[in-house]
Amino acid sequence: MNILVINCGSSSLKFQLIDSESEACIAKGLCERIGIEGSRITYSPAGGEKEQRETPMPDHTEAIRLVLEALTNEKTGVVKDLSQIGAVGHRIVHGGEKFAASTLIDGDVIRAIEECNDLAPLHNPANLIGIEACRKLMPNTPMVGVFDTAFHQTMPQEAYLYGLPYEYYQKYKIRRYGFHGTSHSYVSRRAAQFLGKDYSQLKTVVCHLGNGASVSAVKNGVCVDTSMGLTPLEGLIMGTRCGDIDPAVIEFLAHKENKTIDEIMAVLNKKSGVLGLSDNLSSDFRDLEAGWNAGDENAVRAIRAFCYRTAKYIGAYAAAMNGVDVICFTAGVGENGPLVRRIICSYLGYLGVTLDEEANALRGEEKVISTPDSRTVVLSIPTNEELAIARETCRLVKEG
Ligand code: AMP
Repeated sequence: MNILVINCGSSSLKFQLIDSESEACIAKGLCERIGIEGSRITYSPAGGEKEQRETPMPDHTEAIRLVLEALTNEKTGVVKDLSQIGAVGHRIVHGGEKFAASTLIDGDVIRAIEECNDLAPLHNPANLIGIEACRKLMPNTPMVGVFDTAFHQTMPQEAYLYGLPYEYYQKYKIRRYGFHGTSHSYVSRRAAQFLGKDYSQLKTVVCHLGNGASVSAVKNGVCVDTSMGLTPLEGLIMGTRCGDIDPAVIEFLAHKENKTIDEIMAVLNKKSGVLGLSDNLSSDFRDLEAGWNAGDENAVRAIRAFCYRTAKYIGAYAAAMNGVDVICFTAGVGENGPLVRRIICSYLGYLGVTLDEEANALRGEEKVISTPDSRTVVLSIPTNEELAIARETCRLVKEG
């Protein structure tokens, strides 16, 4: 079955068409600047030429219409007609406490996702627009929602509650939810499979280090803790997000800089992280790595703080699970950042970690990067959220 995977943002839409039997990506692409002047679609059929063209996209329905047109185009398309797309899988950012697993989408599910909009006001409404647009254009095609938060719903209460008055949890459901769940689930499972170990017997820490970054603790096949919180702002130092800070910083800055809460939140989300720490050198680790190699103190400061915070979380999760068997690095920096992996692992001697420098020098590969005598195994596992969404979609559609 061909599964169309849709990841819909407020002004962008990423898509992949995946053959569920071979698990190959048949075509992929991106619509950008939806509803803004200068919208464009990029389309890459597997083995074919990548195309990019500017074309008006006043809304998401038009963007999805263009995606379907590209996929069924007589010359460059990859399927004859829409009947060859068996199902659509939608990435949905926030499922609150309502969704602990992926689900077939119907009217009730749409209403339940809407009820989570408060928790992710930038993301969930955009995800819903994508669902509605697909429903209009492919009314008879089954659709599945795969939630970024679902994998983390197994966390125990002591891990997900904040030290706030309990009534705020009861009234507003303020708690840790965690994100990147599809990636943490895929990578932790894949790690067990790759090592030929039983997933239900393994203690794994997954470090998803991309522009957004989070760590999770997966014990015996279920998530027991993760670093992101009510929103993706908590936890690690990220590309532009600050991660953990003393909440009193917000009040302090509001007074000193005469800023509103919204203005400060924009600083914490968009101007902080390694971008802010490097004094605006870059949020991209390729630039920071180049800076590190050139001895640039801004790059060195940002990379050191990023790695230290990550190592601290690994230690916390070793404590939470009373040990750790496997540490996985994934996402843009985790898969491609030998320097970052080396610095993080330099803190982990107490876990018996020794890194194989030659294996660690490789980028973007599924590989053991620790030495054979390392007490804890360290892996680089490329994540594949689209494939994980396609698998879930196929499974649920077949189950009916
Ligand atoms: P993601 O959010 O997972 O797409 O990760 C994006 C980040 O990965 C980029 O901002 C880069 O910092 C980092 N990245 C991607 N490729 C490389 C590479 N070859 N070397 C180092 N960092 C990389």
